[in-house]
Amino acid sequence: MSIVREIQAKTLLISIKNPEGWFGVKYNLNIYRGCEHRCIYCDSRSDCYQIENFDGEVLVKTNAIELLEKELGRKRIKGTVGTGAMSDPYTYAEKRYGLTGKALQVLAKYRFPAHLTTKSDLVLKDLETLQEIQRAQRASVAFTLTTVDDALARQVEPGAPRPSARLEALARLAQAGILTGVLMMPVLPLIEDTPENIRAIVQRAAEAGAKFIIPWIGMSLRAGQREYYYAQLDHLFPGLRAEYEKRYGDRYSCAAPQAKKLERLLHEECEKYGMATDMRLFRAAEEGKQLELF
Ligand code: SF4
Repeated sequence: MSIVREIQAKTLLISIKNPEGWFGVKYNLNIYRGCEHRCIYCDSRSDCYQIENFDGEVLVKTNAIELLEKELGRKRIKGTVGTGAMSDPYTYAEKRYGLTGKALQVLAKYRFPAHLTTKSDLVLKDLETLQEIQRAQRASVAFTLTTVDDALARQVEPGAPRPSARLEALARLAQAGILTGVLMMPVLPLIEDTPENIRAIVQRAAEAGAKFIIPWIGMSLRAGQREYYYAQLDHLFPGLRAEYEKRYGDRYSCAAPQAKKLERLLHEECEKYGMATDMRLFRAAEEGKQLELF
């Protein structure tokens, strides 16, 4: 269990220089710092982010809503506000504080589009607000899925809701008219990089009503994150660390051994179900164009 500590932030929104790159997000919003989902591969543990005690403490910016009101009122460009890049906006502290939900209400009030990335079905509590945003602008939700095997997810994402719960939430949002899809990254080399896993994610996502799957068949490893991940490998998958060290050394970008082949498979499978695999969908939405997939 993480300790929850309340803090006062000075500023909240971070402007993104290249909004075409990531779900059309123009402003990044992080209400929580630290995350209770404890994924063994989480990049936010990297030394470069300087988040002390990532696994033991969640910092809650309790003045976030006040700041958001102030900062949105000053924005001249109504770009998409995205959350979920550094910590999950539906980490368990959200049950108590409800700040992500309140932030979405502020976005609805100022008519800003929103994009959420999460591993949690807790997002369903904010369904009505997401619909309100969708009616005025655009609301999209990407659920991260690295496997659809609940037992494996329990090992590699021990604190996060089960993939089956995420898929059920995806289906409910899709039925309610929210643009939903899957962020399939990382795909852990030598653990999750099998054709069966790729096919199963695509199939289950399609059945749930996903309109897109954004993949990365591999993972990143940086100082800080790497040590934690390797210690977990020693515990969960004895012997794998040596394979990683031999294959990747100190590299940041660690593609799965069969990445190209699996990417081709993913694209073929997604095409079968009519799901997008890149950000064109979001770029078009930013430009106000109507796409077939909407
Ligand atoms: S849900 Fe995201 S932010 Fe939270 S631990 Fe997992 S990878 Fe990190």
